Amino acid sequence: MTTETPSTGRGDPLYLRARQLVLFRRDPGIANLQRALRIGYQHATHLRDAMRGDILDCDDLGQNWRIAEGAHNGPDLLLQEKIVQAAHWVRTAHSMVVAAGAGMGIDSGLPDYRGDEGFWRAYPALGRSRLRFESIASPQAFQERPATAWGFYGHRLSLYRATTPHSGFDLLHAWGQRMQQGCFVFTSNVNGHFQKAGFPSARVYECHGSLHRLQCTVNCQGSIWPTVDLYPQVNDAACEWLGDLPTCPHCGALARPNIQMFDDWHWNEKRSAQQRMLLDMWLDSAHAPLVIEIGAGRALPTVRNFTRRMQQRGSRLIRINLHEANIHNPGDIELALGAKEALEGIAAQLLQHH
Ligand SMILES: [Zn+2]
Repeated sequence: MTTETPSTGRGDPLYLRARQLVLFRRDPGIANLQRALRIGYQHATHLRDAMRGDILDCDDLGQNWRIAEGAHNGPDLLLQEKIVQAAHWVRTAHSMVVAAGAGMGIDSGLPDYRGDEGFWRAYPALGRSRLRFESIASPQAFQERPATAWGFYGHRLSLYRATTPHSGFDLLHAWGQRMQQGCFVFTSNVNGHFQKAGFPSARVYECHGSLHRLQCTVNCQGSIWPTVDLYPQVNDAACEWLGDLPTCPHCGALARPNIQMFDDWHWNEKRSAQQRMLLDMWLDSAHAPLVIEIGAGRALPTVRNFTRRMQQRGSRLIRINLHEANIHNPGDIELALGAKEALEGIAAQLLQHH
């Protein structure tokens, strides 16, 4: 059965998935395609024939199939096709959820806290004291070494204020505005950069809170207040807050950022819970929004768990993750790229279509 012309077979809606499967499993067998794609023998044969000269070689008798030499060269042979497909999904989506983790901020020039090495490079003073991210980002640190804890968070607050979100934020914002039911953001980042890039506050859920809000360390009255009047003076070399530490206006106790830290029993999650309620209401009205997950690692799985739940509800997924993408995953689109590069790549495709 080789009468099928390759062009017809490659135009098959299942072609891309079939091709990914063969590469991922390194198995050009018909049974592999039949099982994974739930298709008949005939259909699988057509698809495999179409892969001849693309990623598969075969002898003249059509008997011995193998993956062509060079088919595995490069990081992701399907990258360009996947970007085209991603652009198509963005173009045709009625609504979209942007699910963002730490990788989203890296391209704006924000430090990467993954691993002690990276963290201590960004904060040498903490490295000298062997203070890990998990140790300083904790209520205990505010209790035991408040000037250092505030040195760390004061520095971050200044950094987030001074940093301009990269162009990927603007692209997402523009795409969301063109969609019928718009866009919602689910982010574990506390830097407030989605709002800074123009996303309305009522469309952002910050699951770990925001560094632009404060709360009382003993959470005396459950208040949360903005940092607008806070101008951090920090000795960066020592990672020490200079001058009076921020205090609670009600009881005078030490104030702290309204973010969820490690082993944090005092986080005031009221504001975050309200945002979550808005997200849930929006999700009730948006039918299976497209999910664009960006820079969400497996180490802190909050964002990935949300993404998985959305997939179970029928959402399509575009995952952008430089380090943790499964590039041959046949069901979704996974791009092993940085946030900015991937989003600009999709944007370029959208422009070509016009
Ligand atoms: Zn208080």
